Amino acid sequence: MGAVSSSLNDPAAVYMANEPRLRLDLINVISGTDTILSIETNDSSPATMVTAKREAKYGLVEFVQDVDAHGVAPLLLKVYKGGPLKMQFHFTISQIDGADTSLSGLTFIHASSVKDIDNIVNRDFRQNPNMHTYPNARLLGDYSTNGQPSFKFIWEWTWTPYTTINTRYHGWRNSICFADYNKETHSLCPLVQFSFWIQDLPKTLASPLLDQTASMSAVSPSPIPSNSTHTEDPFSPSSLSSMNGLRICPSESSHSDSTEILVTPSSINIPVLEAGASPQASPSIGLVMPPRPEDLNHPEDGPVFRATMAELEKRTAAQRAKIKRLLKSAQSAYESQIASNEQYEQFLNCLKSLSEAENSPFRNTYEFYFERVGRIILNFQSTSCKDLLTFVIEPVKHLYDVDIKSAEFRKKEFDEESREYYNWTSRYLSKQELAGKKKHDIDTKYQDKKKTFELHRFDYYSFMQDLHGGRKENEIVYQLCQYGEAQARSYLDAANNIQILKPELDTLLQSAGETNKEWIKQRSGREEQRRALQKQSSVREKKSITGSAGPKSPAPREVTNISSPGSPFSSKPDPDLDIESRNARKEGLLWALNRPVTIGEGINLNISGWHKYWVTVSGGRLSEYTNWKQNPEMHNEPINLQVAQVREARSKERRFCFEVVTPSYKRIYQATSEDDMASWISAISNAILSSLDGTGSTVGQEGSSTPTHTKHVSNNIQNVLSRGLSSVNRRNTVSENIRNLAKPIVPGKRSNLPSLKVETDQLNILSIIKGISESNCKCADCDSPDPSWISINLMITLCIDCGGVHRSLGTHISKVRSLTLDTVSFTPDFIEAMKMYNNKLSNNIWEALLPPGLKPQPNADKSEKSAFIMAKYNERKFLE
Ligand SMILES: [Zn+2]
Repeated sequence: MGAVSSSLNDPAAVYMANEPRLRLDLINVISGTDTILSIETNDSSPATMVTAKREAKYGLVEFVQDVDAHGVAPLLLKVYKGGPLKMQFHFTISQIDGADTSLSGLTFIHASSVKDIDNIVNRDFRQNPNMHTYPNARLLGDYSTNGQPSFKFIWEWTWTPYTTINTRYHGWRNSICFADYNKETHSLCPLVQFSFWIQDLPKTLASPLLDQTASMSAVSPSPIPSNSTHTEDPFSPSSLSSMNGLRICPSESSHSDSTEILVTPSSINIPVLEAGASPQASPSIGLVMPPRPEDLNHPEDGPVFRATMAELEKRTAAQRAKIKRLLKSAQSAYESQIASNEQYEQFLNCLKSLSEAENSPFRNTYEFYFERVGRIILNFQSTSCKDLLTFVIEPVKHLYDVDIKSAEFRKKEFDEESREYYNWTSRYLSKQELAGKKKHDIDTKYQDKKKTFELHRFDYYSFMQDLHGGRKENEIVYQLCQYGEAQARSYLDAANNIQILKPELDTLLQSAGETNKEWIKQRSGREEQRRALQKQSSVREKKSITGSAGPKSPAPREVTNISSPGSPFSSKPDPDLDIESRNARKEGLLWALNRPVTIGEGINLNISGWHKYWVTVSGGRLSEYTNWKQNPEMHNEPINLQVAQVREARSKERRFCFEVVTPSYKRIYQATSEDDMASWISAISNAILSSLDGTGSTVGQEGSSTPTHTKHVSNNIQNVLSRGLSSVNRRNTVSENIRNLAKPIVPGKRSNLPSLKVETDQLNILSIIKGISESNCKCADCDSPDPSWISINLMITLCIDCGGVHRSLGTHISKVRSLTLDTVSFTPDFIEAMKMYNNKLSNNIWEALLPPGLKPQPNADKSEKSAFIMAKYNERKFLE
């Protein structure tokens, strides 16, 4: 306490905002019937002093360091709470300048700190102006000077703790405020504020003092009056312990820096303290309300008892609404959590069934995370729900149903009981003086009645005391603590269990993340493909519009990628194959007529009957399939590319056509674009070359080249061949076509693929070849005898001169092998195929239009032979 001040910031314990309007003259603290402490404010202008006094038998006036002071009034007046405490406030209101002063709705507010008071006045009041419903507020009423210069009044208040006990200091900090209501601003204006400390009794712990920086040396002892009855230093332990009525335990009194101020029993002026001298402290918060000392002074029936009961009954209504709201909110939290748990469980079960499918990608995630961690969390939430029900909802419901709801009934019951008792008593007393047994009987009956009523009154009183004295609240607090403990424990259990699983989860997440990255990579690859396709089609469109050949772009990928798993076609090049072999493989869609064109047959390409076929070039064979979308079937016998040539078929009727020419027939294919056509010609040329070179042996490479199959093919070819011999061939623009062939790739090592060696000697091969036909015994181009060379694609035997010329034509026209030196080219298949051809058959085609006498003789110059051979095979001059 200090000087009465008009500013909240001043270090004053009693604060009066508007002294003439409302002045607090005196506070009497009353315990039982005794006034144990008086606090007076003396009007000694200019500074008003506050003086605390107490009777010597109650001990000294004491102070305690204010645990809640933040630079304001660091000391609090200390009051011991031995029993119920009453505070009596003496007020004066005065006229101001001859005008009446009126206070409207004077309100008393009790809180634990000035800050709380501020909150109530400034915040809570705005939210709920009905302050009478506020448990720690009272409405005193309206006061006015009513024409008098001043008006005095007294108001009493029974102290009840505002908060739970401060377990560290074993007491309660209190701030009280008197405020009046300003109608204009619709606000409460604090007029008087006062803070004090109530120390609990019995004192079970040593000290309500601060053990941190609290040092009373910061508080000047000088204001202690010199008329003190103690001449020694009042702070020394010896002097303290010698004083009458001190409540200081030895351990604490041994400290010279005790913060408990002890002053003389008579009266003192409370020191004015320097602002900022107070230490800051943060006392721990008591969690549990201590039981209040039982009030054994069961009041007699009378105004006090009735007023007490009325007060308690009023509180019941407020309590009823609050508890009901608490119960409802707990119940709805419980229900929504239960519903949420059920839904989460459904989600887990859904995941579970997904994960149970064969090769389910969900399995790992489900088993590692959801089955374990998810269930742990769900389990925690279920447990938490159960705890909420057991520890909170059920006890609160019981309190509400059994105690609070029955309060009304009990009140009614007591009121009736009371009425009946007093009615009866009135009748009893109105009876005339009786004598003898009758008198005894009626007196006994009265005593019984009285006893019964007193018992009921006692029970009702106890019930209401329990309901509002903190016992019921404490029961709830206890349950809440138990709930808190249970929830925290199961939460920590769950957390610990999850902690153990964390490394596995990290691994899982990492691998899922990597897989995801792969997918993203694939997706971007696909997008790139798509962009390329887009670009390609636009280029093609452009080309078709302008008719000019633009830059060559790769063959459309979609064509080669059509085949699906399970089809007999491979969609990817076999990485084991070398590049030549890979280039000799291709598959895709081509359009073609239903059947091959026989040599010499007139062809009109502008006819209907074009179909699309799935065509594969592989293993030296070209195969066509129909019904490729569902169940591919071989359309024609595969073409043995060993004896075939490929060239562009310039046709005015259809675009992008190329032809595969065998000694017996021609097959015309139509590609979808110029690039596609070039790609096919290139692939087929490569296949021809590698089959001639032995790298593309037709044996043992494809399932379709079984021996019987080969034989069947041969027969077929023979049939076609025999028919074609008599036909007249059509001339073609050979040189142009040859030029258009994509550059073939020259095969590298022959040993890349196993070629089947014929284990016969070379003479044997020579004789076999010569034995096939008499025409084979003369050079196909100059009739020289005993040719020892062979063109393995044209299937003709050659003398050494003509063989040399053939070699110079390039392998794309003729592939020459020695019949005496070559040991690897003549596979059994080749010999089989060779049997179907001979020099005569070949010349029937290649020399169909040859004028007589133009063919060189065996003894002709090499240059003559060379010119003839160029014209015959390169320029194809004598072809039909
Ligand atoms: Zn020759």
